[in-house]
Amino acid sequence: MKAEELGQLKSFLSTPRRIVITTHKGPDGDAMGSSLALSSYLKLKGHEVTVITPNNYPSFLTWMKGNDEVIEYCFHEEKAKKITNKAELIFCLDFNTLSRIDTFAPVVESSNALKVLIDHHQQPDTFDFNFSDTSACSTAQLIYEFLEMLGDLDFINQDIAECLYAGIMTDTGNFRFNSVTSKTHQIVSVLLEKGVRNDWVYDKIHDNNSINRIKLLGYCLNEKLEVLPAVNAAYISLNAEELKRFNFQKGDTEGVVNYALSIKGVKVAAFFVERDGIIKISFRSKGDISVNQLSRDHFGGGGHINAAGGASTDMNTAIQTFKKVISNYINN
Ligand code: 5GP
Ligand code: MN
Repeated sequence: MKAEELGQLKSFLSTPRRIVITTHKGPDGDAMGSSLALSSYLKLKGHEVTVITPNNYPSFLTWMKGNDEVIEYCFHEEKAKKITNKAELIFCLDFNTLSRIDTFAPVVESSNALKVLIDHHQQPDTFDFNFSDTSACSTAQLIYEFLEMLGDLDFINQDIAECLYAGIMTDTGNFRFNSVTSKTHQIVSVLLEKGVRNDWVYDKIHDNNSINRIKLLGYCLNEKLEVLPAVNAAYISLNAEELKRFNFQKGDTEGVVNYALSIKGVKVAAFFVERDGIIKISFRSKGDISVNQLSRDHFGGGGHINAAGGASTDMNTAIQTFKKVISNYINN
């Protein structure tokens, strides 16, 4: 963000404003952590703030401060529309293009509010203000940097710090991806000084599994894993009947794709899941293999170089397409 833009935003925020914060559909730890951290900060500054998510999110993310006031657009359309239409400023966090907020997109688009993008995904659209850094490990890290630019790091309390920590921890696969830099660890160090209970946050997010979730994972690994050694790829798929069999709850399949990627020699992994009549796909890769490009080219999606998502209308077609085109991305 240019100094001039930052100055404009700073002066806009120097009086109390009506603010909406939104994030991508299927909110993950970074989406909720960055949204609720920013929300708590803006409230401390005297603004009226509402976090509106396009839909609901897993129960392992509901411990964050401010969670109880989050409005899920899909369940409370009228209320969300009313608040968004009155907003003066809308923060768009952890997504690069409005279609990522699904049916909430036209509401945001038609609002007269100034729109601020804070995000780390590839190829961001242009908003009124863009703070985009595709090399950042998480949007939570960018929220920290945003507060730093505003000179307001002192406002980070334990609640805000734990939201930011959760965002950084989840989007870096617990600090293991190459997007983690010394700066990330410096930020985390400050967050720990602000009182983050790192083991508590980890426990809330990762050691909160139902028995069904663990059994579903076992089923995926034992019965549904397909390896394509010739192209160093692997994939797992689940249809609606299989989800039902394991009493699927939101978030239960998060991370499954990483098991396919963890196989020796595998450089690209995909996970296909039938949800609400569509096939949602998660892609992961290693090194310079761009699953962002793969998803943009063939699955109407995108994301990051090594982690992206997309969709398809038919399971069989999606899997066949993946098998057919994958070698083009591995050789490049
Ligand atoms: P996941 O596989 O965990 O759902 O998503 C991996 C990454 O890709 C995340 O950063 C997510 O925001 C992004 N992503 C997931 N689905 C889509 C999609 O349909 N379109 C785009 N542009 N990005 C996606
Ligand atoms: Mn993110």
